[in-house]
Amino acid sequence: MVRVSQYLQLSLAELLSHGKLDTSISERVGFIVRHLLIALLVVVIPMLAHSEERPLVNAQANHPSLLTDIRYAGNNNFIGRPVAGYRAPLCLLSEAASEALDQAQKLAERHNLSLLMYDCYRPQRAVDDFVTWVAGTSPEPTKRAYYPSLDRSSLIDLGYIASQSGHSRGSTVDLTLVDRQTGQPLDMGTAWDFFDPMSHTESDAIELTAKNNRLLLRQIMSAAGFRPYYAEWWHFTLIDEPFPDTYFDHVIE
Ligand SMILES: [Zn+2]
Repeated sequence: MVRVSQYLQLSLAELLSHGKLDTSISERVGFIVRHLLIALLVVVIPMLAHSEERPLVNAQANHPSLLTDIRYAGNNNFIGRPVAGYRAPLCLLSEAASEALDQAQKLAERHNLSLLMYDCYRPQRAVDDFVTWVAGTSPEPTKRAYYPSLDRSSLIDLGYIASQSGHSRGSTVDLTLVDRQTGQPLDMGTAWDFFDPMSHTESDAIELTAKNNRLLLRQIMSAAGFRPYYAEWWHFTLIDEPFPDTYFDHVIE
């Protein structure tokens, strides 16, 4: 606001220094109005934007016992590098999803387990990054771990990557279960984000122990209000999600 008053003072001083309001008065009024508008754009609008409340919260800050390994913020993911929009390895979620996750964590702790979050809110620009990557020719350092039997160019047609993700609505999570004694993730039969039918929750191509672990994760998340996704054992969406039609694009930082 200092800059606004400076513009006004300068413009008024210019007017008064002439001693009279001559034929150029309309130009000078225009001068003031133009500079006042510029001052408003420069000073006031950023202040309003800064004060805008963000609808997502840091789930781990609210519930410190929650474990996180936000893979898209680092190199251990199917792209093999940090994904656009992930400037920090944070689990951001709507407040409703964060509270439901707290319930899930309490249920897991009854089994001496903990939730380990791989992904939470995902900015739209990260999803755009996936789509661009599919059509690109950059090196594929993590192909063996994430899509050993598939061509990268086929991942959209096969349904593994889409132009929008429920994660961008702030109430969808990817996670697994960790043994609190050993600190090790439970055997789920495949890695997170493994692009293969073996990742279907009820796949018969995995060992019984892994299948039971998947069903335990599904049972815990369902009891806490999340809906499972049949094709990815790690993916759950809050049934009563508060922003069902909004795909956010805030950077995670
Ligand atoms: Zn997911």
